[in-house]
Amino acid sequence: MSVPHRTSDLLYKYLRTDKKFPHLWCPGCGNGIVMGSLIRAVDKLGLDQDDVVVISGIGCSGRMPVYVDFNTLHTTHGRALAFAAGLKLANPDLHVIVVMGDGDATAIGGNHFIHAARRNLDITAIVINNHIYGMTGGQYSPTTPTGDRSTTSLWGVLERPFDICKLAMSSGTSFVARSTVYHVKLLDRLIVSALEKNGFAMVEAVSTCPTTYGRYNKKGGPVAMMKELRDQAVPVEKAGDMAEGELTGRLVTGVLQDVDIPEYCDMYDKIIERAGGAD
Ligand code: SF4
Ligand code: MG
Repeated sequence: MSVPHRTSDLLYKYLRTDKKFPHLWCPGCGNGIVMGSLIRAVDKLGLDQDDVVVISGIGCSGRMPVYVDFNTLHTTHGRALAFAAGLKLANPDLHVIVVMGDGDATAIGGNHFIHAARRNLDITAIVINNHIYGMTGGQYSPTTPTGDRSTTSLWGVLERPFDICKLAMSSGTSFVARSTVYHVKLLDRLIVSALEKNGFAMVEAVSTCPTTYGRYNKKGGPVAMMKELRDQAVPVEKAGDMAEGELTGRLVTGVLQDVDIPEYCDMYDKIIERAGGAD
């Protein structure tokens, strides 16, 4: 019988506790919860730290590669998937994990996101969706709900938000799943499954930003925001029995798409073979 690790063992094994802490995330931020899920997933699969790469763009979530003790890249805003694609093609044996925020993944990096999905490189993308640009000043993002307030929408957002999972599914992502920072055990399991998938796998982690999104929208602080996530979530199995109208404002959680599609590096190997070898 395997004995579970103590949390502190994992912290000292996988975080750069001696160099990069204290971290800069605000009290009540969900980013640390997602980081916990990420390291537990890597640990559960027994991946060698030297075979794991964590890449981010810019933003509060972009700090994650600074704190985790893997091969890490902190890149430019919205471009993490482009760096990841190059790295994966050059070193297909590495486990490449990309951490992005909602603005990072679906605004500045929107084109990289849909084309990474279409291309189907074996990359795990974790999109932390807190419905706002936290670090850059609380501007509204492509996932801010219509009518919600931010520093750039003081009277409410006029635009309709993206559903990140639907965007990923319609772009051809092989594995699409959603959890929240309240549903941590589910988030752990989904990241494990995403890492195991041979193809582009995207996990949306709906998160909390009490400092900007919460404050501007009078969400009542971190605990109230967590309770809202708890109440909004509907497991995908249950959602199947609900009418479309009943799902308005709810978050469908679990595995939303899981299909087998030829992986890009595998196809590239075949091209090399057909062309007469790599030498
Ligand atoms: Fe987290 Fe928001 Fe603070 Fe950024 S600004 S660290 S997203 S709570
Ligand atoms: Mg954000």
